[in-house]
Amino acid sequence: MSETNATVPTQEDLDTLSRQLGRPVRDVVEIGARCVCGNPLVATTSPRLSNGIPFPTTFYLTHPVITAAVSRLEAAGVMTTMSERLQTDTELADRYRAAHENYLQSRNAVGQRTGVGAVPEIDGVSAGGMPSRVKCLHVLVGHALAAGPGVNPLGDEALEGISEWWDGEQCWCAGAWDTEASVPSRDLSRHTRTQGLTPDELEQKRAERRAAVEDNK
Ligand SMILES: [Zn+2]
Repeated sequence: MSETNATVPTQEDLDTLSRQLGRPVRDVVEIGARCVCGNPLVATTSPRLSNGIPFPTTFYLTHPVITAAVSRLEAAGVMTTMSERLQTDTELADRYRAAHENYLQSRNAVGQRTGVGAVPEIDGVSAGGMPSRVKCLHVLVGHALAAGPGVNPLGDEALEGISEWWDGEQCWCAGAWDTEASVPSRDLSRHTRTQGLTPDELEQKRAERRAAVEDNK
């Protein structure tokens, strides 16, 4: 039990994230939120990627059931309404600005905890349109799940809005992603195994080898 609640991702967590997203995950340093069953809901990405690039979006929603449900809200125009309310509802605007500040503090804390340190290039830059607009509801929901209720008012609202498709009280994982397929790994140059690769992937791998041989001539 303690293991599935830990924030430090296990290899199994990373594999699950890659399967949820259908692509290999990179620079995930913590699991921001988990399903009641233990599966990841939110990937916490390092504020500085391993290639040195600053990365402002710390909390990334990965669970396919939640991302699809949030996409439905976006398609229904919820972001426009929220952005308009931020212009007129000063109490909401204040709480949303506080969520922005919380996001920055949380990201700094992740940087400290994981040894990445400060990332001055993205000081004051959060994500999702914060602090004054709503540009990506997935970002707000990812933050709300990682921070818990009462921190991001519009993220909390979006979670309420998807409650007929997902809620935190029960596990919605069954059938949500392919748990049997090989773990996606597009970055083939870093892998030596060929098992489980599609013909296209094998051909790409061969082409990369030929290119490497050419480079060394
Ligand atoms: Zn679950």
